[in-house]
Amino acid sequence: MTDLIVHGAAITTLDPRRPTATALAVRNGRFFAVGDDAEIMALREPHTRVIDGRKRRLIPGLVDSHIHVIRGGLHYNLELRWDGVRSLADAMEMLARQVEVTPAPQWVRVVGGFTEHQFVERRLPTLDELNRVAPETPVFILHLYDRALLNRAALRACGYTKDTPDPPGGQIERDARGEPTGLLLARPNAYILYATLAKGPVLPPEQQIGSTRHFMRELNRLGVTSVIDAGGGFQSYPDDYAIVRELAARDELTLRIAYNLFTQRSGEELADFERWTKMVRPGDGDDTFRHNGAGEMLVFSAADFEDFREPRPELSPSMEPQLERVVRLLAEHRWPWRLHATYDETITRALDVFERVSRDVPFDGLHWMIDHAETISDRNIDRIAALGGGIAVQHRMMFQGEEFVRRYGAEAAERTPPIRAMLAAGVPVGAGTDATRVASYNPWVVLSWLVTGRTLGGLSLYRESNLVDRETALRLLTERNAWFSSEEGKKGRVEAGQLADFAILAGDYFAVADDRIAELESVLTVLGGRVVHGSGPYGALAPPLPPAAPDWSPVRTRSGAAPATTARARCVAHPTPRRVAPPPIDDASAFWGALGCSCWAF
Ligand SMILES: [Zn+2]
Ligand SMILES: [Zn+2]
Repeated sequence: MTDLIVHGAAITTLDPRRPTATALAVRNGRFFAVGDDAEIMALREPHTRVIDGRKRRLIPGLVDSHIHVIRGGLHYNLELRWDGVRSLADAMEMLARQVEVTPAPQWVRVVGGFTEHQFVERRLPTLDELNRVAPETPVFILHLYDRALLNRAALRACGYTKDTPDPPGGQIERDARGEPTGLLLARPNAYILYATLAKGPVLPPEQQIGSTRHFMRELNRLGVTSVIDAGGGFQSYPDDYAIVRELAARDELTLRIAYNLFTQRSGEELADFERWTKMVRPGDGDDTFRHNGAGEMLVFSAADFEDFREPRPELSPSMEPQLERVVRLLAEHRWPWRLHATYDETITRALDVFERVSRDVPFDGLHWMIDHAETISDRNIDRIAALGGGIAVQHRMMFQGEEFVRRYGAEAAERTPPIRAMLAAGVPVGAGTDATRVASYNPWVVLSWLVTGRTLGGLSLYRESNLVDRETALRLLTERNAWFSSEEGKKGRVEAGQLADFAILAGDYFAVADDRIAELESVLTVLGGRVVHGSGPYGALAPPLPPAAPDWSPVRTRSGAAPATTARARCVAHPTPRRVAPPPIDDASAFWGALGCSCWAF
């Protein structure tokens, strides 16, 4: 039975046997046929839903191979986002509006997703500006990996006074009288930023469910249908997966999620993975919610912090023996793993370990991968290829390319990361966002970076030789990412037999100007033949979604609806207790890794 037909579209299939088509048919959640209008309309049956593609570009649903969506969903409805906002004046106006509707004791928080370089003013707000806009409501603004800005009300809410000592590794800026000014610096690591954020109110579980649904719908609006979740700090298995599991049980996931497990305990990593390998196996689950192995944290001693304002961290000699024990266990259990590694020096040492383990326990087609790999050398690309690994890249340079160039020079930046060299070596390469704490979750921003090589501030990073064409870029965010969840051939193309995940775009990705790529979005997103997002001409097809809760949620303004102006002041500050681990200060380099990377810390 044909459930759905789309006709009259400009389809990019990514199937080399039939690169373009105008129509597709879906049966039982999979593409049944792809072809021209006449061929496909012949498959129409009485109950078939027929959608006119209106000559628009239709692409396979986008796949993000590195995002922290499970954790991000728990907080999404609490966050004001400056993703894509091009002026500080606009950003501050959004902030002022949000302050007006946010009831005590709630905070207004902007947690990453932007950089000062994207603003025409090229600067962050001053603390005075924050205090003027929000004299009473706590405001917390996180900028990349390097700083947080708190107004006076937030300092009060956190209990920071002149008697508060600097936490290990972080700096509380103080005025002449010793009072905190509201500027927190990640110097040399970001623990202070995330420990401070963790003091803020969280949503009760029922609202975390709704919040996750809203975050997924936001990704659907951008054409995303699949993601691989890279775990995260304070994202403990199995406790902190209750919400996403509940959504899966209710059949309310509008994204396919493959999730990796991330150790939370410095020094106890092996015990975590020993426990988990007894609880769950890679591939457990179904096409919508499945387990995908270990990482991106395998051992804290192997994690390098990627703040390009700061020098590269030197990892401790304890890294190799600790990493070897964990990787040996994973290889023996046939668990795919992913390892956060920014710098070539880290990758060299990790590969020494992997090669040693592989001599005893052959990897034999296991899909292990390196994440980020910004400064990887050709030699290490070849070593990854020889061991059958893959590399997941993200657009972090778009946010901090200016700082990288300042520290290492423009020439070094030209191959940071060396995407074309990776592709030439034949290594599986996929792209993602690493959202939400630092980078934006918008995959079109990634596509724009891959094609133009420009930062959000407009700096050109790469020569032609490290850029890719639009089709290659699209493959990096669709079919090539299927390798990273061991699902090649199952998704990423519009091809008979594959999962029927696709998006019809508001503008034509292959025709818009370079500087418009980042503004694209979907007007119709379909997951397994089911509509999960509709807007514009397809607005009527959008499935219902309860309004974002709480009623002052910044998400309400973002989706066009005005927030309520009379929110009830009830105590929702800490409906569920939050574990906040102490910083692992016994080992300076583990400390960097523990909480330095935005993708891990709260
Ligand atoms: Zn990472
Ligand atoms: Zn990450």
